[in-house]
Amino acid sequence: MSTLAHNLQRILNTLPQGVTLVAVSKTKPVQLIREAYDAGQRHFGENKAQELVSKAPQMPEDVKWHFIGHLQRNKVKQVLPHAWLIHSADSLRLLSEIDKQAVNLNSVARVLLQVHIAQEEHKFGFLPDDLRDQKTLKEISQFNHVQVCGLMGMATFTENEAQILAEFAALKALFHELKPHFTPAFTELSMGMSGDYHLALKHQSTLVRIGSSIFGERNSH
Ligand SMILES: *Cc1c(COP(=O)(O)O)cnc(C)c1O
Repeated sequence: MSTLAHNLQRILNTLPQGVTLVAVSKTKPVQLIREAYDAGQRHFGENKAQELVSKAPQMPEDVKWHFIGHLQRNKVKQVLPHAWLIHSADSLRLLSEIDKQAVNLNSVARVLLQVHIAQEEHKFGFLPDDLRDQKTLKEISQFNHVQVCGLMGMATFTENEAQILAEFAALKALFHELKPHFTPAFTELSMGMSGDYHLALKHQSTLVRIGSSIFGERNSH
């Protein structure tokens, strides 16, 4: 078995049933993505519109692409035809643009609401209190071509496991609090990366986004 196939298998063995592994292939060449595909992996994550648009046509049609990066409104049109799930819907303005472009494609865009759970300024997302606001929830529900499938969050980059666990616990609690306000499609909790997915699994993550533990370290972003 290749190192990559071995890495995938080792991670899959640690995932409970019902948890989906998103192999984060950003910055990695299509050749490596193909190798993961040949080992059985179907869900891949990209964080740049340009990269997704160039890689998607080079891979088989049954690949499920997850868009996990900050999405600018002027890139929605490019990303939408390829994305099986957008994890990073982080504002009403972005949701409005996703809705508009989904109307044009005569489709329904599947998204997760990204929530700011980390104690770091630079991370994106709705604040938990934004999503508890009835007015915000009502606006979101009026985007008829957007299907909200759950929440996504990134924990603080820290060695402090107690803090990471507390952030994941808070996101899980918010997920359960918000669930009654959405359709039955609201089932996904995307949390956990190479360094912290073992902690995210303790708080009912359903989608783990893992890059470097599969493909090796990246040189950039
Ligand atoms: C890069 C990235 C990941 C994967 O990070 P690793 O530490 O390589 O596993 C997960 N989620 C998001 C949003 C990312 O940008």
